[in-house]
Amino acid sequence: MLAMEYRGPKRVRAVQKPMPEIKHPEDAIVRVTRSCICGSDLHLYNGNVPDTRVGSTFGHEFVGEVVEIGPDVTNVKVGDNVIVPFNVSCGRCYFCKQGMFGNCHQANAMATAVGGIFGYSHTAGGFDGGQAEYARVPYANVGPTVIPPGMDLDDAVLLTDVVPTGYQAAEMAGIQKGDTVLVFGAGPVGIMAARCAWLFGAGRVIVLDKEDYRLEFVRNYAPCEAYNFEEIGDPVLFIKKQTDWLGADCVIDAVGAEAAGNALQTITGRKTLLQAGSATALHWAINAVKKGGVVSIVGVYGPTDNLVPIGNAMNKGLTIRGNQTSVKRLLPRLIDHVQSGRLNPKALITHRMPMEEVADGYRLFSAKLDNCIKPILLP
Ligand code: NAD
Ligand code: ZN
Repeated sequence: MLAMEYRGPKRVRAVQKPMPEIKHPEDAIVRVTRSCICGSDLHLYNGNVPDTRVGSTFGHEFVGEVVEIGPDVTNVKVGDNVIVPFNVSCGRCYFCKQGMFGNCHQANAMATAVGGIFGYSHTAGGFDGGQAEYARVPYANVGPTVIPPGMDLDDAVLLTDVVPTGYQAAEMAGIQKGDTVLVFGAGPVGIMAARCAWLFGAGRVIVLDKEDYRLEFVRNYAPCEAYNFEEIGDPVLFIKKQTDWLGADCVIDAVGAEAAGNALQTITGRKTLLQAGSATALHWAINAVKKGGVVSIVGVYGPTDNLVPIGNAMNKGLTIRGNQTSVKRLLPRLIDHVQSGRLNPKALITHRMPMEEVADGYRLFSAKLDNCIKPILLP
């Protein structure tokens, strides 16, 4: 089968690989019909995630048809078209039982902070991903969810990550009716977070990024006020002025580690973020939120990254929340939001390409070329 393969930082290609096989009675094999490239893949692509092995296949946002099941799979059958959440979760550990599918204790044998994630290095369990024609889906009774009849596959594939992550960002932000919500980042996740903020009762939504085409998109899509942070002077001061000097009620970080790229240091062979100046989205978030406010972090950081100015956070009485998204927990209500038209995820898709062009997809999305917001692969 044709699959994406990682060759080293900024080097990926499409290659022929052996077909995945059932290895456990609860596995399923899925023939992938749509597969996205995600901002999270860029951390891998840039070589910033420890134990990302050459030869591995990325891809944690995919939907497809079940073509084979192990003897213990009962929740899906051959022929079903399924949404595959990006989390690999066992469904029965202490954390899964609380709906914390993103923190499964069982799926990631490495027992790092993160649970299992498809195509996300051996730090996240070492599972091959879905940027391929076929994928092995472990714990197939837990994650895979049958796509409702009539749902567009382009909408369905964004339910594997971007929609739930934007939604969970807004949920964790603890938005109260009428709140001013500030979102850092107008990538697919920030765009969806801005849109979802309204579902939680926001009174005003402001987004900051530096890519004008993304700002233009989110301004119309969320809709919201959107500013280029390179053109507004000090972003913290700007937000204070916009909010009667109080600060935003809730702030969402939908940027993650790359924004602090200039502070990357290499320690024992892996890159770690240390003392990354004050120009990171997370610093701005903590300084631009009002006293007693909430900072919701969905942008991804490495396990040992240490970017919180704890003095400001403590003295302001902030609540700081973050997590990998628990996709499965949110799917029923998000399917409802899509079916009712309250959320229109497929509008984010700007580029569609065959597997053979996976390297172009990474290049465009990573460098923000050709007004790229969300590229999808059609294996
Ligand atoms: P993306 O790379 O397309 O978007 C990030 C955006 O942030 C870009 O548009 C960039 O211009 C902007 N940006 C850079 N520095 C900034 C700054 N200082 N202030 C404001 N904006 C800035 O990525 P994406 O797909 O939208 O994902 C965003 C983040 O969310 C990534 O870190 C990704 O790993 C993470 N993510 C987390 C989860 C989760 O479960 N928590 C799931 C999916 C994605
Ligand atoms: Zn993703």
